[in-house]
Amino acid sequence: MLEKYGEPCPDALVESALDHIKLLQDHDFHEFKVAVKASDVFLAVAAYHALAETVDCPLHLGITEAGGLIGGTVKSSIGIGSLLWAGIGDTIRVSLSAEPEQEVKVGFEMLKALGLRTRGVRVVSCPSCSRQGFDVIRTVETLEKRLEHIKTPMSLSVLGCVVNGPGEARETDIGITGGGAGKHMVFLSGVTDHHVKSEDMLDHIVSLVEAKAAQIEAGEAVAFDPHATQPAEAAE
Ligand code: SF4
Repeated sequence: MLEKYGEPCPDALVESALDHIKLLQDHDFHEFKVAVKASDVFLAVAAYHALAETVDCPLHLGITEAGGLIGGTVKSSIGIGSLLWAGIGDTIRVSLSAEPEQEVKVGFEMLKALGLRTRGVRVVSCPSCSRQGFDVIRTVETLEKRLEHIKTPMSLSVLGCVVNGPGEARETDIGITGGGAGKHMVFLSGVTDHHVKSEDMLDHIVSLVEAKAAQIEAGEAVAFDPHATQPAEAAE
């Protein structure tokens, strides 16, 4: 293959994959999926596109040896993400020089960002700036950890001030918008509801999310849909 193509290229990956598929099929083995991973994003994406045009078997996606946590996440998201977006791929593997738990989290977040999985809390948060009424970065870090156990699909917005806070909060199940003097506005199902002080904020948001998740699981509420024509909360 190297003699024929001279260097790794999409055609070589596809031809190699087709050879292996034929080998399996010749042995009457049909329970397989195929990967044409490469560490080069362009090479992998072009190979998967070409393979998807040619065969009908399940494809396993990956950007192999993608790198460390940040660089590898970016490469994987561009490569795997663009393929999934194009409707290509059945399973994925994120390969990072990072803890396996991080690989799983990155893969799951990718699926969430593309709307292919909804499990857990979808967090909308701002990058923070001098206008923030509380420490947005540390708050989001802590909330993501403390809400990892929530499996119910729902949304939470954490915005540092009123510039973007109310707009995002109107679209989420629970929203917090930073205010002045350590007092922040809490939104429930998109509507302003009450204030909370900085020192109570983390515990308060965690209990609000847990309570809403429990209500949804019990069938007493549904996840907030700002575009629903009927009120999203279940009738009392
Ligand atoms: S929402 Fe407010 S605190 Fe957050 S980035 Fe925008 S202006 Fe800054």
